[in-house]
Amino acid sequence: MQSRRPVVLITGGSRGIGAAVAQLAAERGYDVAITYRSEREAAEQVLAACRSAGARAVACQGDVAVEADVVRLFDEAEAALGPISHVVNNAGITGKSGKLAQTSAETIRDCIDINVLGALWVAREAARRLPQSPGDSTRTIVNISSVAASLGSPNEYVWYAASKGAIDSLTIGMAKELAPEGIRVNAVSPGMTKTEIHERSTQDAGRLERLRPNIPMNRIGETGEVAEAVLFLMSDAASYITGANIPVSGGR
Ligand code: NAP
Repeated sequence: MQSRRPVVLITGGSRGIGAAVAQLAAERGYDVAITYRSEREAAEQVLAACRSAGARAVACQGDVAVEADVVRLFDEAEAALGPISHVVNNAGITGKSGKLAQTSAETIRDCIDINVLGALWVAREAARRLPQSPGDSTRTIVNISSVAASLGSPNEYVWYAASKGAIDSLTIGMAKELAPEGIRVNAVSPGMTKTEIHERSTQDAGRLERLRPNIPMNRIGETGEVAEAVLFLMSDAASYITGANIPVSGGR
């Protein structure tokens, strides 16, 4: 009988870093559930890539900021693929960039609702559902933070940097809380990575290229480079690693 492939649920898997994690996970032997908020067509493309790599794959629509949606996303993923063994807490936004003094309450609230509350709902649901297996440590949660948490993102989006500071604390606390249950919890902190998040935050098309000289490696990161770190933390190669936070930022 064929052994069951581990199942990973990736929030915000329709585009960018989440999509790259989904595709690499499919190639590395996982079945994949991705979630998305509005871009069904982009999610379908990721599903096709995952399936052509041999994975079972489903896409579930929902807003991670809404507690009931998160519960339903897990229900739908489990109904389609069976018990979830890994969760990548990835969905996130920055909001329109600018100085804090000129930023609307709506922009700040949306970011905190999605990046902090959303990540908490997802982490809590993962803690409730990942099978406990003390002494085994093959179940994992990977939170996607950002180097913004330590840089602070002045003049761009300090509220976003603060939301990622919350992810760093969440990672430390959950790692300690879930270690006795055999669940490892880690974070990956990308630096500037080529995705649509940047165009959505600013009308300034040349921004990434202008900021490139601030990166010691002098180039923007690729989504696949972030995905490699996530897949490492999910794998048995990281069996004694919990509470870690790996920057994937070209030295920034
Ligand atoms: P992206 O390309 O804009 O993709 C964002 C993904 O999140 C999409 O799949 C989107 O779904 C989903 N999403 C957004 N809001 C959601 C919500 N309320 N509920 C459910 N899904 C939602 O972003 P990215 O650059 O890949 O970013 C992914 C993560 O990496 C974020 O946590 C971000 O903060 C972090 N990060 C990114 C960078 C970077 O330079 N790109 C650097 C550091 C950290 P739809 O397709 O349906 O909109």
